[in-house]
Amino acid sequence: MTTVTAAEAAYVVAALLFILSLAGLSRHRTSRSGVVWGITGMAIALAATVGLASRSITATGLVLIAVATALGAGIGLWRARVVEMTGMPELIAIMHSLVGLAAAFVGWNGYLDVDPELTGSLLGIHHAEVFIGVFIGAVTFTGSVVAYLKLSARIDSRPLVLPGKHVLNVSALVAFVVLTVAFVARPGMGLLIAVTVIALALGAHLVASIGGGDMPVVVSMLNSYSGWAAAASGFLLANNLLIVTGALVGSSGAYLSYIMCRAMNRSFLSVIAGGFGTPAAADDGEQGEHREINAEETAELLRDASSVIIAPGYGMAVAQAQYPVAELARKLRERGVEVRFGIHPVAGRLPGHMNVLLAEASVPYDIVLEMDEINDDFPATSVVLVIGANDTVNPAAIDNPASPIAGMPVLHVWEAAHVVVFKRSMAVGYAGVQNPLFFRENTQMLFGDAKQRVEDIVRGLDALDAPVPEMAATSR
Ligand code: NDP
Repeated sequence: MTTVTAAEAAYVVAALLFILSLAGLSRHRTSRSGVVWGITGMAIALAATVGLASRSITATGLVLIAVATALGAGIGLWRARVVEMTGMPELIAIMHSLVGLAAAFVGWNGYLDVDPELTGSLLGIHHAEVFIGVFIGAVTFTGSVVAYLKLSARIDSRPLVLPGKHVLNVSALVAFVVLTVAFVARPGMGLLIAVTVIALALGAHLVASIGGGDMPVVVSMLNSYSGWAAAASGFLLANNLLIVTGALVGSSGAYLSYIMCRAMNRSFLSVIAGGFGTPAAADDGEQGEHREINAEETAELLRDASSVIIAPGYGMAVAQAQYPVAELARKLRERGVEVRFGIHPVAGRLPGHMNVLLAEASVPYDIVLEMDEINDDFPATSVVLVIGANDTVNPAAIDNPASPIAGMPVLHVWEAAHVVVFKRSMAVGYAGVQNPLFFRENTQMLFGDAKQRVEDIVRGLDALDAPVPEMAATSR
């Protein structure tokens, strides 16, 4: 077997492992094995690529590859070890930016180092690949950097509204098409520089003009772009595995964006075009008074409840409250209370965020329900505990057509008999809009860090169970 056939065979195995990985990652129970399949596939792909490259590069080149691999792996391991779950979206965004940057560099390299054997129409195809690869890569790069800055609150998450912004976007796309034709006809560095600048500006503008509430779609959309950028590099480098892997990432990211759009009742095009969550649309108005409750009173409420739904959100992740929350659920179930979790598809800061945290705390999968599975059950529920959720339980999405989150499906927590909201203040959620839930008759606010408050409630329940000491009882 030649090195080339061995490498191609290894690529097929790696591609199959990536498909298995995606299948594994689509379910909680199989997600760990999905990760292992993915790592194995990538290790095989790297080994095969280096083996293939070793035929044509010098020893120094191989040493450089080894150094780059060790550096990349080292940085990746370090970041993965230190990242908090709450920082995952930022990490993902910045990783996507690197894929975009790499694709843009591969494109530039394809222009500077053309295979002399390419002539005629093949050369034209090569130049089209260069141009498209640079464009997708540069859009992904700046788009991801701006997403990173927004998600990490380094810049304002509100949408940037430039005059004629749609005209700007469409003009950039038209310019790209015209320049591609010109470049294929007569390749020149000036045109490549021009498309790079246009793509960098377009990526930054596209994401800057999207409001905070629509960021979940942006994260998965950039995931998709990074896949297509990698596939474009695959065509340039004539690397089948990169084409397959890029297409897998690109299509799964696009499908995830579609699911996210459906979950938020947004049309894909309108999210891409931006404009939701404009500051002018957010008219919160006068909300009235809120009522407070303490941990002991909440424990009493729960003791008398027959059914409880827990609606977790980003605040549970910030407080790392999943362990005491799991403990509270266990204690209530031991008492015969029906306990379930209602998970909104965009709760937290990345798709599946809450599911990951609850699985980490060993909450049984069968009591963790999706929004659609649980939304009709709130009217028959005694108590809902809203733990660090805000936008995803905001009735304004249904009641107020002027709200920036109008139309987004939400958990109908307010339909339960009692609602207890855990948060630290009356501050707004990620989308920056006030939540009328906090001012409803049947809602009580439990202020403080969610982890501490849940621990207080667990202690409160234990105290309610504890037998009254005899001395104390007789002396009364
Ligand atoms: P929100 O981000 O709307 O609100 C979180 C709430 O948690 C805040 O009101 C905050 O209030 C509270 N909180 C924060 N820290 C603590 C703490 N330590 N203890 C108690 N409470 C705390 O949460 P949701 O999960 O409901 O909504 C997610 C939002 O994020 C949506 O707007 C979604 O579109 C967006 N998003 C989602 C992504 C995804 O893929 N899931 C990706 C990017 C954005 P206070 O400060 O007063 O404590």
